[in-house]
Amino acid sequence: MDDAMTVLPLVFDAPKRGMPPRHLADLSREEAREAVSELGHPPFRADQLARHYYRGVTDPAQMTDLPSAARETLTEALLPGLLTVVRHQTADDGRTRKTLWRLHDGALVESVLMRYPGRATVCISSQAGCGMACPFCATGQQGLTRNLSAAEIIGQAVAAAAAMANGELDGGPGRLSNVVFMGMGEPLANYARVRKTLDALLTPAPHGLGLSQRSVTVSTVGLVPAIRRLTDEGRNVTLAVSLHAPDDELRDTLVPINTRWKVGEVVDAADAYAKRTGRRYSVEYALIRDVNDQPFRADLLGKLLAGRLAHVNLIPLNPTPGSKWDASPLPAQREFVARLRAAGVATTVRDTRGQDIDGACGQLAAADAEPGVPSVAVGPLAGARREPASGGGQGGPSTVEPPVELGAEGDQ
Ligand code: SAH
Repeated sequence: MDDAMTVLPLVFDAPKRGMPPRHLADLSREEAREAVSELGHPPFRADQLARHYYRGVTDPAQMTDLPSAARETLTEALLPGLLTVVRHQTADDGRTRKTLWRLHDGALVESVLMRYPGRATVCISSQAGCGMACPFCATGQQGLTRNLSAAEIIGQAVAAAAAMANGELDGGPGRLSNVVFMGMGEPLANYARVRKTLDALLTPAPHGLGLSQRSVTVSTVGLVPAIRRLTDEGRNVTLAVSLHAPDDELRDTLVPINTRWKVGEVVDAADAYAKRTGRRYSVEYALIRDVNDQPFRADLLGKLLAGRLAHVNLIPLNPTPGSKWDASPLPAQREFVARLRAAGVATTVRDTRGQDIDGACGQLAAADAEPGVPSVAVGPLAGARREPASGGGQGGPSTVEPPVELGAEGDQ
């Protein structure tokens, strides 16, 4: 492996410190009604608060359906401000916007909102930093600061929905249609809060954002027991698995969790999920020059996935600062795609938005961003927005980002 790479330990258990105050979005509907009762108000006020919250309203003055005496108390108790905008950065002619958020304890996370014709996707963070230590990922190199609370994760999506509704992105008012857990962090390492987030995303308005299951993508390094758990939940969100190598020897180094759960176990678990949901999963594969982009690895990947319910989403590597690694050259990408397709595996190449604001896949790393300093260059965004691969064919996951076919006019 490259000597430029720092080998970090895998971290599963997030530090316990610093969780934010309780928020309406952390609570079930029943719990929220109880909390409101305990504060001396009729339980239905909880539903009124939720209606405002999911529309992006947290200013008590705008809650005209609540008695003025209740507004302040309830807002303070159940809608504490958890996410403060440090700055927004836009790219792609105003159709991509990265937001750097400061949390109550000073931790920084990022989300990226991307508008496409006919849909808008937000890439959200589930942890501050990440403990999975993938050497090519900016967030992975930061280490794990802490898990986000459900309300901190949900708040990123609610803010994106409000930004779309208010026409804050170029193109006028619109609707948030897709959410991908491809920002900072490993969502399945923060399982319970991510599951609550899924509830909030999928519950119809006014008690949630009312998104469809297929337009929500959970992306994982391959925590096999958590994939199995997700399979047993009965939800049908789109699953993306960050594979990056078809063989254990290489994957052990690129995705260190592979030392715990091997390639075969990961794709078997993803297959079981796809069989239960009836929809294909995405296999994410960052093409790294001379590391994992050789023709023989394309053949190995084709052999591994042929006949499975998988769709491969290739992402030319977004090099992170200080890394010696580079994206695969176009001819190597083309050859890789051709070999996978020849093996009968559906394959697309991801279009990468937000590169000039470090908002592209794997670039999210907010730690070096100075809160409050209006700088143009936010440090490497951690996490980056990733799009779910998606795909093509019937029954395929509806994608978040439009996969771009290599060889087409593309954005290569
Ligand atoms: N932890 C989750 C989600 C966060 S990263 C996961 O690993 O799936 C989202 C995606 O971006 C992952 O597939 C990750 O492997 C990919 N990625 C990370 N760094 C990248 C980089 N520098 N270039 C391209 N893709 C990258």
